[in-house]
Amino acid sequence: MPDTISTAPPCSPGENRGLPSLGAEGTALLRLLDDTFEQWGVTAGARPMTMPPLLPAADLRRLDYYENFPHQAVVATAIDVDRRGEYCTDTGCFPCSSLQPAELGLPSASCYAVYLDHEGREVADDTLVTVVGWCFRKEERYEGLRRQLGFHMREIVALGSREHADAHLREFTERITAFARALDLPLRREAASDPFFDKGGSKALLQRLSPVKHEFLFEDLAIASVNTHRNFFGDRCSITLAGTGEPASTSCVAFGLERWLSALTRRYGSWAAATDAVHAANDRLTPVGPVV
Ligand code: AMP
Ligand code: ZN
Repeated sequence: MPDTISTAPPCSPGENRGLPSLGAEGTALLRLLDDTFEQWGVTAGARPMTMPPLLPAADLRRLDYYENFPHQAVVATAIDVDRRGEYCTDTGCFPCSSLQPAELGLPSASCYAVYLDHEGREVADDTLVTVVGWCFRKEERYEGLRRQLGFHMREIVALGSREHADAHLREFTERITAFARALDLPLRREAASDPFFDKGGSKALLQRLSPVKHEFLFEDLAIASVNTHRNFFGDRCSITLAGTGEPASTSCVAFGLERWLSALTRRYGSWAAATDAVHAANDRLTPVGPVV
């Protein structure tokens, strides 16, 4: 087994803007990892869903996204043809004056769409949903497959009873730990100080008292996280626990797929060796019994 090496996959033109592309080998490994994580969810009973690529800014605002993470937020809008919106070749931009007001947001996490999709519904106490989506975060700097403006996030989301939401994180913490061991990928688990659904205020205080988010780090980089939200999304989206009328509890397990590519190619030195390692780890962990 090689020691961790520093060879990074070759750059692509969009990389400096946080928008790298992947060639055939990177694409195959991204799919293999995503299939692996999705299968963990499905085996545990998760319903696979496909979510829209944009969400109404009004909905994300309702979930406090713009209050907690204004510095990361990216919005989308159309050109205002009535105001003769024109592209400015000097700046390489469409000026604000040529755009319609932005009423759409690019999601920063895949699970927001799941809570919004379940709005106003009753859920069974053991509901699980799995989704993968493009997520967008404006960062201070971008770096290869490690820190991007747009990246893929696979999530397995629990909705239902508090016990179910808590057990979900325990079980997937074990699953991630076992997978990392089978991969011989050294991961550290750490409590994180920035719950993705609330940066400041009372919940951040609560976070310090009782962590609501743990990250799995390879070297200095978080490649996955487990997050509990108690009844925050159940309350905001009127998702109720069947038979109780009470807001459902939720929790989510998130995998940043490109960061897994970055960690695995760094650990194994090439796309081929990283891909072999994932196949071997999957074989070692198969047959995967239900996570429940
Ligand atoms: P978080 O919701 O902050 O826990 O993010 C979930 C996962 O997404 C992290 O564990 C990372 O793997 C990944 N991630 C977060 N931000 C970025 C980024 N800017 N570029 C690439 N991956 C990211
Ligand atoms: Zn999430």
